Amino acid sequence: MSTLRFHAIKESMSHTPIPIEEKERRSDLFGKNVFNENAMRQHLSKDAYKGVMSAIEHGTKIDRNIADQVASSMKDWALSKGVTHYTHWFQPLTGITAEKHDAFFETIGGGMSVEKFGGDQLVQQEPDASSFPNGGIRNTFEARGYTAWDPTSPAFIYGTTLCIPTIFVAYTGEALDYKTPLLRALHAVDDAATAICKYFDKNVKKVSSSLGWEQEYFLIDRTLASSRPDITLTGRTLLGHSSAKGQQLDDHYFGSIPNRALNFMRELETECMLVGIPVKTRHNEVAPNQFELAPIYEEANLAVDHNSLLMDIMGRVASRHNFKVLLHEKPFAGVNGSGKHNNWSLSTDTGINLLGPGKTPMSNLQFLAFFINTIKAVHDYEELLRAAIASASNDHRLGANEAPPAIISVFIGEQLTKVLEELEGVTSGKLSPEEKTDLKLNVVGKIPDVLLDNTDRNRTSPFAFTGNKFEFRAVGSMANCGNPMTVLNTIVAKQLKDFKVEVDALIDNKGLKKDEAIFNVLREYIKASRNILFEGNGYGDAWAIEAKKRGLSNNKTTPEALKAKISKKAISLFEEMNVMSKVEMEARYEIEIEEYIMHIQIEGRVLGDIARNHIVPTAVKYQNILIKNVKGLKDIFEEKYQSVSKEQLNLIEEISSHIESINFNVTKMTNERKKANAIVDIEKKAHAYCFNVKPLFDDIRYHCDKLELLVDDEIWPLTKYRELLFTR
Ligand code: ADP
Ligand code: MG
Repeated sequence: MSTLRFHAIKESMSHTPIPIEEKERRSDLFGKNVFNENAMRQHLSKDAYKGVMSAIEHGTKIDRNIADQVASSMKDWALSKGVTHYTHWFQPLTGITAEKHDAFFETIGGGMSVEKFGGDQLVQQEPDASSFPNGGIRNTFEARGYTAWDPTSPAFIYGTTLCIPTIFVAYTGEALDYKTPLLRALHAVDDAATAICKYFDKNVKKVSSSLGWEQEYFLIDRTLASSRPDITLTGRTLLGHSSAKGQQLDDHYFGSIPNRALNFMRELETECMLVGIPVKTRHNEVAPNQFELAPIYEEANLAVDHNSLLMDIMGRVASRHNFKVLLHEKPFAGVNGSGKHNNWSLSTDTGINLLGPGKTPMSNLQFLAFFINTIKAVHDYEELLRAAIASASNDHRLGANEAPPAIISVFIGEQLTKVLEELEGVTSGKLSPEEKTDLKLNVVGKIPDVLLDNTDRNRTSPFAFTGNKFEFRAVGSMANCGNPMTVLNTIVAKQLKDFKVEVDALIDNKGLKKDEAIFNVLREYIKASRNILFEGNGYGDAWAIEAKKRGLSNNKTTPEALKAKISKKAISLFEEMNVMSKVEMEARYEIEIEEYIMHIQIEGRVLGDIARNHIVPTAVKYQNILIKNVKGLKDIFEEKYQSVSKEQLNLIEEISSHIESINFNVTKMTNERKKANAIVDIEKKAHAYCFNVKPLFDDIRYHCDKLELLVDDEIWPLTKYRELLFTR
């Protein structure tokens, strides 16, 4: 066997489960390393505590004096837990978290030193930000970037470092991260939704957006994974023949979790508890060695931070257990890829889930208002929502008949469909007392029962209502949830804002009662957004045809999908809602397009290298063995050799033909890459990579995978799918 593969397999066999002891209860561990409300109450003065809480709840500014007090207490708390360093922790547009550690340690002259951390260091830092993506913002404005404390996400200790969640912005104010626009979007949806809630309950002062993500991932033996250059460099396999056994027996999903994986999960969950990530659910997923982890949902900004933190922690814990976590959306062809469902809802500071059933007819009307407005928002901005989840890696899932399709639609279930049909028939203008009673009893009044029964689920829908929340299922497993959450909350905020204007106009100008006005506007919304509702099979070709008729977008690739981000409609939306400026949006577009290009470029290089330097030489080696064999047979059998070496001769020819095809396609791909690289316009360049370079991956892979079936297993250089996927 090839030495690398042989050693990898041998070493992987020595990786036995690492025992994990859980001595403390999870509830005792939870939040132990978080400077949360409880810790603040213990460690801060009354004034400082009030100052921070008011910043969290009302977005008020924290003054210098308070910041100094908070910093000092935070430092003492951290030092008492053995912490030596602090860092501003942020999420630049690279998609991974960034940190630069500074020691608390300071010298003060005379050979003396102290541990120091003041308000200045807490509130603002200036990381050397020149190598983070900025889409030309910093060049345009010649501005430096800085990070600024986000008090709404509590500081936490990881390892021996105090991590302070921050935003990352240019000095001219433009956002350079995922968090800044998200916070603005959450503010916008709070304002717009609170105004609507006041129709129903004057006591509502704040509406928060909630997010519960479900993280899917693959867990692969570390030595096996690192024996594959494609996994090491791109996070996925670029070639490899399917294993004879894949997921067809459905024997992995919800099966008992293998011991090695379980121990990894237990340690991961312990670490999550300490930093306050409320993880709750773990199970096997559909594909072999694929798993899922889900927390209890949280306020959206905190949930986004926690997901980013989780992805980081996962990698570290995995390596202690000799695993590599693959967060890529499609690490293996032929088995399911990974996603990250984003469960989303809105709730009030009075404790009401606005997408859940209420106790009175009015609160159920409130549910309908939020439910229908969300559908309308998705209808009006479906293309923007698709753009929010676009990436080179997610392209492998969307539209590839396993994950939701690239067409955005909303699934609400049979019963709610009926409710909407009834509401569509509501009389225009004033309602008769009989009609009001009928609506109250037979439509609105039945909502709680309808929701209780809302068990029919359509797994193929990208945006499904699941009883008390919407579930956005098209988000990729590797994605930062900040991006889709920013878009979703912004479009809903805009929709609710428009809704209020329309309802108020009917009340003020047409003399309608509040509930009549609401019914009237909702009726029109249902009519206007009918096209986005789809209950059927999202994977079928019939849906693609139907969706086209309905005028829904079907952007299968990232370069096509991203365009919606800089449409006039999107720019005016984000500007109106104060979430992003035109400059910020164009910068993001540029960054994402460039990232796409680099992604495909790297994959192309790696594939070309493996095909030429690993696969072809191995095939030649095997072919030489065959040739030697045929020559030997000729020595023994003389003229008769043709008939006894028929199969070998065929094989020799077949191998030659695959080698020829590989070399031909690799050369073609290299030339296409060179042509693409010469294109200056990045949009055209991305198109060239998408439509001229990337399709050749499949051709190259096809012939390599065929050779994998022909060449002697003993000398095959790459760890095979069956070894990667079925090692426990
Ligand atoms: P499933 O969809 O697997 O049946 P659940 O209905 O329990 O499971 O929810 C799945 C996810 O939805 C969980 O991560 C949960 O935290 C989250 N979730 C539940 N309610 C809400 C909500 N109101 N807002 C956001 N997420 C929620
Ligand atoms: Mg789900």
